[in-house]
Amino acid sequence: GATIGILGGGQLGRMLSVAAARLGFRCHVYEPMANPPAAHVADVVTTAGYDDAEALRAFAASVDVITYEFENIPTAALDLLESLRPIRPNRRALAISQDRIAEKDFLTDLGLTTAPYAAVSTLADLEAAMARIGTPAILKTTRLGYDGKGQARLRSGKDAATALSAMNGADAVLEGFVNFSHEVSVIAARGLDGSVACYDPGENVHRDGILHTTTIPARLTNAQRTDAVLLAARILNALDYVGVMGVELFVTAEGLLVNEIAPRVHNSGHWTQNGCAVDQFEQHIRAVAGWPLGDGGRYADVTMENLIGDDVLRLPEIAREPQAALHLYGKTEARPGRKMGHVNRITRR
Ligand code: ATP
Ligand code: MG
Ligand code: MG
Repeated sequence: GATIGILGGGQLGRMLSVAAARLGFRCHVYEPMANPPAAHVADVVTTAGYDDAEALRAFAASVDVITYEFENIPTAALDLLESLRPIRPNRRALAISQDRIAEKDFLTDLGLTTAPYAAVSTLADLEAAMARIGTPAILKTTRLGYDGKGQARLRSGKDAATALSAMNGADAVLEGFVNFSHEVSVIAARGLDGSVACYDPGENVHRDGILHTTTIPARLTNAQRTDAVLLAARILNALDYVGVMGVELFVTAEGLLVNEIAPRVHNSGHWTQNGCAVDQFEQHIRAVAGWPLGDGGRYADVTMENLIGDDVLRLPEIAREPQAALHLYGKTEARPGRKMGHVNRITRR
């Protein structure tokens, strides 16, 4: 049988490994950190750094195709791996989603709408950007941000110096604050044959910059739902993408704006585990393995709640709830802000 290589052994790598195992694949996870969540379910785990060329070569030699659970894989490691095995989704999708400016340039060139934005590295840049974009605004590091980290909000020009110093010298992008009514995301998949399947968009609520809940169905008109799915498919086609992608959208009176894209399975797609015949993890494995995409149709209304840090103290009660499916990541230490698991509540069948 074939072996799937997965870069990253966090909860996404773990749930991808489970899906791969269900389809009869073997899984080899590459993860620098010891004892990662995926270690309990993958067939093989290599604990080595991304600068270890020998370990990377051995990893590639042991797998048929390589995929990943996070976007910030060092370029040199990718160059080496790509010379040995196919990487799906492809390098361009990774490069674009690693850099908020490249991402917004790409989306704009496709004719899609983003928040107004400008590149910022100095205080003079920031002042010029604020003169153009106005306030309120958000300054974000161009690279490496997640869960709202590396961001500073600017209410007025007075906040400029403080916001810039919060970037710690990293290149940044200033974004105009979008006055959205709510946030939704499309979990979309594209197969090796170019076919596309999108899950019904979910509505996302964040708490302290971290996804708190995803509710299906989202509050969208039929026209908005069509727009959301069409724009996601357009992004996938433009990238000749293979795999699952998360597309985060702001819903505004002027239409849908794209916040960001994630070239991987996405936290806001976890509801599919209990709402669809084929969930996002199986869909991703099917795509990267060159299988036909599965049926992503939805048979239930679901609310996904992330269990973060001390939320796990509520586990005894949650475990007794009817119509609630628990997914825990095997992490022992419940630090604040750490994603420990999630619960999918079926609200209607
Ligand atoms: P993720 O964990 O989703 O990768 P991230 O750190 O990349 O998060 P963003 O998705 O850019 O961060 O922003 C986090 C949240 O902050 C958004 O979901 C939204 O609620 C809010 N936000 C970000 N950018 C803007 C904006 N330009 N206008 C209004 N709200 C914003
Ligand atoms: Mg992000
Ligand atoms: Mg985001």
